Amino acid sequence: MEFDTKLLHGGISEDPATGATSIPIYMASTFHQNKIGESQYEYSRSGNPTRTAVEKLIADLENGTDGFAFASGSAAIDTVFSLFSAGDHFIVGNDVYGGTFRLIDTVLKRFGMTFTVVDTRDLQAVEAAITPATKAIYLETPTNPLLRVTDIEAVATIAKDHGILSIIDNTFASPYVQRPLELGVDIVLHSASKYLGGHSDVIAGLVVTKDKALGEKIGYLQNAIGGILAPQESWLLQRGIKTLSLRMRAHLANTQAIFAYLNHEPLVSKIYYPGDPNNPDYEIAKKQMNGFGAMISFELQPGLDPQKFVEQLHVITLAESLGALESLIEIPALMTHGAIPRETRLKNGIKDELIRLSVGVEDKRDLLTDLQDGFRVLQGSDHYVSNGAFNSKA
Ligand SMILES: *Cc1c(COP(=O)(O)O)cnc(C)c1O
Repeated sequence: MEFDTKLLHGGISEDPATGATSIPIYMASTFHQNKIGESQYEYSRSGNPTRTAVEKLIADLENGTDGFAFASGSAAIDTVFSLFSAGDHFIVGNDVYGGTFRLIDTVLKRFGMTFTVVDTRDLQAVEAAITPATKAIYLETPTNPLLRVTDIEAVATIAKDHGILSIIDNTFASPYVQRPLELGVDIVLHSASKYLGGHSDVIAGLVVTKDKALGEKIGYLQNAIGGILAPQESWLLQRGIKTLSLRMRAHLANTQAIFAYLNHEPLVSKIYYPGDPNNPDYEIAKKQMNGFGAMISFELQPGLDPQKFVEQLHVITLAESLGALESLIEIPALMTHGAIPRETRLKNGIKDELIRLSVGVEDKRDLLTDLQDGFRVLQGSDHYVSNGAFNSKA
């Protein structure tokens, strides 16, 4: 089955009991057992038919063996790290989601796990960081907010050669754009609160494993830890996923149009977009991505105030998050990455004047007009910060 067809007919596409083309929301905590141990479902933490539907669907979409749904992307990540033990060492991408960094830095380290942070685009650095205690390489591609792209197949090969796992957070791409398991990765996970849900109305996380043995382990942990996705949210998520391809095609086309515009906008000094042929990661992105994603980050010319710019947009919504139908814009230094100490943030290349845009599916003419109007307002001299530098609160 092709990907677009799987969205509708993959997993469990209709209710086995009634044939309903929309899976019912099974609001039940427990299930009648005709004979002890013979029932399909026992207790909704361990398994619920609505959750099973979305779990089988994501497993199909990522081409894995087993899928698991969690109450959030963060719960999914925590459950995956629960595969490991005190003393285990990990290589982690230097640009991972802030919440993942927080989980590692303030929670997992307390349980005796150790981490080496590496720019995973540098394959030699990845290999050099492996020690006898290393159990996994964990990364995101494209990264947030600089949209750096790591060669997934190359990292998966390094992991395999050293007998360790490769784990990818595929949130920024979605399985429409990129399928890491097909490139040799062991575990793929998502914050389904973004592109998979797609409608800014559900918080959820998903995990898919490459093989049954790993699937059994994650299934055990999902039940043992209990951070499961509830039936209502499971239904919302599988409903959102049905239109993933339709949405992604619109997202990707709009992003190309906005890139073309920003590329010629004199008030923009730098663009971060894997689909930019001048981007050093362009060839790898082209090789492993179907389209280049719908996130684009850019910096304004020195002295222009990014806060003024984002606050006066009318169509594009000033908000954290991404992957929504609506275009969302934010300033990482003040918002999503505000908790990172300024010095660390700057060292990682995230400047005060950086703007991150999650391109939505509005008519591109409205998006372009909104941006153009924003730049026109900035051209008024009173919108230049007097000392020529934008001061961050972070
Ligand atoms: C949002 C996000 C998460 C966390 O997911 P939640 O659903 O908010 O818990 C993890 N990784 C990435 C890349 C994200 O964007």
